[in-house]
This record gives sequence, structure tokens and C-alpha cells, in this order.
Amino acid sequence: SSLTTTTTAAAPARCAVVGSSIIAAPEAAPLEDRGRRSEQLAVPTGMVDELVEEALVWCSQHGLIVGDRNHPRSGKAPGVGLLHAPFSLLPVSFPRFYWDQALELAPLFNELVDRVSLDVEFLQQTLARTKLVDLFTKRLLDIHSEMVELNKKEEIRLGLTRSDYMVDRATDLLLQVELNTISTSSNGLACGVSELHRNLIRMHEKELGLDQASVVGNRAITQHAEALARAWAEYKNPSAVVLVVVQQEERYMYDQYWITVALKERYGVRTIRKTLAAIEAEGKLRSDGTLMVAGYSPNDYPSEAEWRARTLIERSSAIKCPSISYHLVGTKKVQQELAKENVLERFLNNKGDIEKVRKCFAGLWSLENDSIVVSAIESPESFVLKPQREGGGNNIYGDNLRETLVRLRKDGGDELAAYILMQRIFPPASPCYLVREGTYAKENAVSEFGIFGAYLRNKDKVIINDQCGYLMRTKAATLNEGGVVTGYAFLNSIFLT
Ligand code: ADP
Ligand code: MG
Ligand code: MG
Repeated sequence: SSLTTTTTAAAPARCAVVGSSIIAAPEAAPLEDRGRRSEQLAVPTGMVDELVEEALVWCSQHGLIVGDRNHPRSGKAPGVGLLHAPFSLLPVSFPRFYWDQALELAPLFNELVDRVSLDVEFLQQTLARTKLVDLFTKRLLDIHSEMVELNKKEEIRLGLTRSDYMVDRATDLLLQVELNTISTSSNGLACGVSELHRNLIRMHEKELGLDQASVVGNRAITQHAEALARAWAEYKNPSAVVLVVVQQEERYMYDQYWITVALKERYGVRTIRKTLAAIEAEGKLRSDGTLMVAGYSPNDYPSEAEWRARTLIERSSAIKCPSISYHLVGTKKVQQELAKENVLERFLNNKGDIEKVRKCFAGLWSLENDSIVVSAIESPESFVLKPQREGGGNNIYGDNLRETLVRLRKDGGDELAAYILMQRIFPPASPCYLVREGTYAKENAVSEFGIFGAYLRNKDKVIINDQCGYLMRTKAATLNEGGVVTGYAFLNSIFLT
């Protein structure tokens, strides 16, 4: 029997928690931008090439790597077709104010996910219209209904989450982009890049003018491994293993293996990796429980076999990460519903907590709201149109957004319910050296800041509810989408200002 977790992600490196001291950004921002802007640590002229070369060597020697998409076997066979992960050459400054805020929010969002996941009616009603037009969401919701009918109870609940934010330059507010309950990848890479930056700074402390200890360390690997290990312990079966549900091709397998290795080395917990198809073919439900994981995109469910596997997992006694309810709580539609007036009150009791959570909500709208659809058609650049998907590359922007809304509105059908509209967040931009496939470019860049979380409870006992390190991703300001796995963003680390 086994436990499961689902991870999709990239590569590597040792993690350590380190306090951070304060450093002035060498090139000060204009006065009005000070305090809210992320700026890359300045590189002395003439040092860029040398630093890039050193960084590339470090990545190769320390496993800050991904499979090279140009190599046919890189997603299947470990050790072939390796390429360094895309990274920002040096860390960026990040206001301590936002850091504190994101940390404080992490346990509140963990708790919120758990509460919402228990509200059968809320999930079914919120997604009722979406379900009519989005087959993927419908299939997930059908499994949810089946479990409700079976009266299936998840007593041990494990959430490995990541709440993503951007700073809105117009208001200086830290606004949530989304909350991930599945597809919370890149723990390994996130730890690796802060180690890379520390190392570069250690080698050139005088020229770079920053103490390496100022780069904020990352505990994402150790803390998520710990949460899995403690869930495993709660399961109380020494022969249980952690099942990692993987895709057919995992170019980010090295990222995932950091957790596998930590689980084995620190806790002696064994991990196995299987695709949904393999779980269907090999998995059986026994009275003592089975393994669990979940695919997160429709591509992960090419046939009925994968759906049967997901149902099999759900029916088992394995601790699921995420369970079908946790998965559904992570949908964009639920994010939008939670942002409506008086909805948070249904799940959280403390007024102060409710206020803190609400403060990071960007504008979110259902497309049933025709006046907002009209506004978005008029000014598409101020909005993002989102379907119920994960993993990057699915959102609609600009002219495309306008055309899609015009068409959906003309058709007048339920198809509008497949999407939500979100206020487009414009973070302050600043120049950054970004490195990909062995070469660098200087880009005017913006960043997205994610905080990992872990939540473990057994019946009434909350065993873990904590933040677990961070993921900083930087991309060219001109790009719409983000995401490292999708090839838009670069891994980054931070020092606090
Ligand atoms: P996914 O689950 O696919 O990661 P996201 O909601 O995170 O979906 O969107 C993907 C990317 O699109 C984000 O990483 C970010 O770069 C960009 N994005 C999403 N929402 C917004 C927004 N409201 N404003 C600006 N950029 C956004
Ligand atoms: Mg997501
Ligand atoms: Mg995202």
C-alpha cells in the first residue's frame, strides 16, 4: 500500500535556511519606486561573461538541470540530454514587507483550502456551470460526486501548496495570481538557484557588494519532504511507500528527484514513480489501502484508463496529495468564487484573517457578469482570461482575449462558464541578466513570487500548517505568460530590502 503525491517540476541542490541581512541595491531606483521594486544585484561592467560561465559550470556540477527538449530520450531516461535550468544571473531585491505578508498568508490559505475542500455543496455549485462546458473539470467533479456517494472520508489530509503573487505597480499591493493545490513544482530548482547565487556572491563578494548570507535560503525540498514523511508516519504502515504520479515524459524529473532523495536519506521512506496508465494497469484496491497521485492536465488523461486510475486512487485509503477535493479547490473558478463578497466568511472565522486574505485578491469575475465582459472587450490589455487549467500557457491575453470574448458572447451559450476574467497585474519592471541554453540576454523584467506551503491533518489534529520556502520567477516584461517549465520564466532568488 502506498501514499501518493504529485509533483511536476524541475531540478536541484542543497537547501539551507538562512537569515538574511539587509543590503542596499547598488543601483537605486527612482524615488517613487523605492521600496516596492525588485532590482537585480548590479553586475560590475566586464564581469557578466565570467559570471555566466561560472554559473553554467555550477549548474552542471550541482544538478540545477532539466532534460533538454531537443534530446529525444531526455524526458524518459535519467542522465541523458541534460541542460542547465533557465536562471537569472544574480538575485533580485525584494521588499521585506511583501515577504512578511506572503509568509503570513501561507497558513491561512492552507487552512482555507482544507475548509473549502470539505464543503461538498460549495464545490459542486461553484463548478456546476463550468462542468457543462469543460469536460476535464466535469470528469474531476464526477469523481468528487462518486466519492460523496460512497461517503468516502479523508481523515488524513495532506496539501502541498504554492500561492503565487505579483506586486501591482499601480497600487503597491501584493496580489495573488493563483493558489496551486496541484502542479506545485520547482521546489528543487528553487533551492538550487539560491545556492547558485550564494556561491557566485561568495566568489565575488567584493565586486558584487553583497554578503552571500543575504540571499534568502530555501527550505522547499526539506519541508515538503518532511510533510510527506510525516503523512507517511500517520499512515502507520511501515511498508507503505510514497507514489509519485508522473507524466510519460518528465523533463523536470531532476527537480522531483530532490524530494525523493530527501525522503529516503532523512526519513528512510521509499518512493516509487508511476504514470496514471501504469497505476490503472497495476493498481488494485485492497482493504489495507493503495497508492495515490493525480494527473493535472487533460493530456495526462489520454484514455479512460487514466480516469479509472484516478478513481482507483481516490477510492483507496492512501493519503492523497491532492485529493479530488483539494484538486478542485485549486481551480481558477473556485479562486474567483472565493473573491466574491461574503464567501470567505463561510470558511474562515477570524475577521483579521479574512481581511488579510481578501487584501491580496486581485479583481476576479465570472463571465456571467456581462458588464465586465464588455469592459474586457473594450480594454483587453487590462485583463487575463483564464480557463480551468494548470501548468502555464493556457491563458488568453490582448487581441486574442477580445476576439474570444466577442465570439463567446455572440454564441451566447454556456461556454462562457469555462473561463474566468482576472484583473491583469502589472508589476514594476527593471533590467535583469537572464540565462538560457548557455547564453544570456539583458531584459527589462518582472517577477512572480510564490510561497510553498504544507498542511497535514489527521481528523481534528493539525499536524503541520506552515510556509515552506519560496519560488521567485523572473521573465521579460513584454511576455504575457510565466512559468519555468513552460519556457517563459527564469529561476531567481531574493535578498530582502
Ligand atoms: P497556471 O495554473 O497555468 O500557472 P496562472 O494563473 O498562474 O496559471 O497563469 C500563468 C501565468 O500567467 C502566470 O505565471 C503569470 O505570469 C501570468 N498571469 C496569470 N494571471 C495574471 C494576472 N492577473 N496578471 C498578470 N499576469 C498574470
Ligand atoms: Mg497553477
Ligand atoms: Mg501559475
